[in-house]
Amino acid sequence: MTVLVTSLASGSSGNALLLRSGHKAILIDCGLSMRAIEKQLSWLGLQVTDLCALLLTHEHHDHAMSAGRLARRYQLPLVCNQETAAALGDDLKDAPVEFLSVNQAAQIGPFVVRSFPIPHDAAAPVGYRIAVEDVTIGLAIDLGSWTEEVVANLRPADLLIVEANHDRELLPMAPYPWPIRQRIGGPLGHLDNVQTGELLYQVAADGRQREVWLAHLSEQANTKQRALRGVERVLKLAGVTKLRLTALPRLSGHVRRGAVVWSSDNLLQQCELFG
Ligand SMILES: [Zn+2]
Ligand SMILES: [Zn+2]
Repeated sequence: MTVLVTSLASGSSGNALLLRSGHKAILIDCGLSMRAIEKQLSWLGLQVTDLCALLLTHEHHDHAMSAGRLARRYQLPLVCNQETAAALGDDLKDAPVEFLSVNQAAQIGPFVVRSFPIPHDAAAPVGYRIAVEDVTIGLAIDLGSWTEEVVANLRPADLLIVEANHDRELLPMAPYPWPIRQRIGGPLGHLDNVQTGELLYQVAADGRQREVWLAHLSEQANTKQRALRGVERVLKLAGVTKLRLTALPRLSGHVRRGAVVWSSDNLLQQCELFG
């Protein structure tokens, strides 16, 4: 069965990621309006009722904007840890919430989902490692630094989705108040392009072929070109050559035409090419 991953939105104005395996699908984060999510899914031939679950990485608005509404309206199981649910408070009132503690795993339809902690200034932010069919997807967005635990959880992934939030040179010039710049650049904020390159170097030290999506690019302090160049520079210096990088667009407003989609079929072709 082909596994498809589609980025519906990525960045501080909204995040949503769709994973599909046959007729089963899950959504990770819901940082768009309910209407936008409904529209994006319908463009892909899906309805919210086709989803097995909605998973949240943390409670920040750009990840959880319509989570409660969507879960309530469609009785869609909303999976997150207790700390995240508590931080969302009344937003999740009467929503069918299913708790997945940090470092726990659960089977959701065909997806085996494991959460792991990431350093970020939220209640209990997590990344996810998701195994489905014979592929693994690793996701760590919104993290200000990385740990050995993050590296170990991402290592099995065939598709890595990690943030490359900002460029070190651009952040001081971005039109944010000083405390916000401090927060973004701090160990509980967001990764810059060099840090992302260093994280990927650690993950890819085994030399295996992987696809990488650079996510959550800052509108004010990064560009696709800078993110790609900055990460590639670090990887080149470290001698890592087998990662294929794509910088995600912020909002896939026209997901029918311009969506970034990863297919496990391409992975098989790559394996044949490189095997
Ligand atoms: Zn975010
Ligand atoms: Zn966040």
